[in-house]
Amino acid sequence: NHLVIALDGPSGSGKSSVSKQVARALSASYLDTGAMYRAAAWWAQYTGIDLSSDEVDPEAVTRAVEQMPLVISTDPDHERVVVADSDITEEIRSPDISSLVSAVATNRDARALLVGRQRELIDQSERIVAEGRDITTVVAPDAHARILLTASEQVRLARRGAQLNEAGSAVTQTELSAQVAGRDAKDSTVVDFMTPAEGVALVDSSALTFEETVQAVLEAIEA
Ligand code: C5P
Repeated sequence: NHLVIALDGPSGSGKSSVSKQVARALSASYLDTGAMYRAAAWWAQYTGIDLSSDEVDPEAVTRAVEQMPLVISTDPDHERVVVADSDITEEIRSPDISSLVSAVATNRDARALLVGRQRELIDQSERIVAEGRDITTVVAPDAHARILLTASEQVRLARRGAQLNEAGSAVTQTELSAQVAGRDAKDSTVVDFMTPAEGVALVDSSALTFEETVQAVLEAIEA
């Protein structure tokens, strides 16, 4: 009796914290696919590929992703991302990685490889909440429930700002807007995570508290 919940949304929509809480409520595992793209960016850099270069060789990136020795935890209470014995759980959240990750995310072959690994991880779990940008459409279009979590741009920026401040990095409002808008713009050239695909429930968290958002997602799952 396999249960798969697919949840997509832009950065700052609250999808990671909401997905984790939903996973706990359902006694399910949790898969953060964004962490896999981030790990791939870290690994590519680690193996000597300069993702910030204008002339990144897409085939080199694909080969690196293919060979990436990634171990990712699917326990919502114990997030761990390990590549080649390096625990990079914290490091992949850095602004550096955030700015490089699109070089992996816009690479079709690299995506296909990561999607394959994501499907394996999903298949291995009895019950799982998987979140990202293309889970409802590409990774798990047959999921039992598919939800797109959105929030107004203003709310998403405020949440990202709070997250970064918590992480101890001070950015101005202008820098933050540019970063978030830039990453969303790049990301949406590959996948559309702003409009729900057919059969995908839309949950707008702009006017909801965290608990209310979790409740709305749980209701969408039961509907
Ligand atoms: O969710 P998070 O912000 O950690 O994702 C990091 C990046 O990984 C996104 O900006 C996007 O480029 C990429 N991503 C993706 N498809 C997914 C999840 C993440 O392209 N399913």
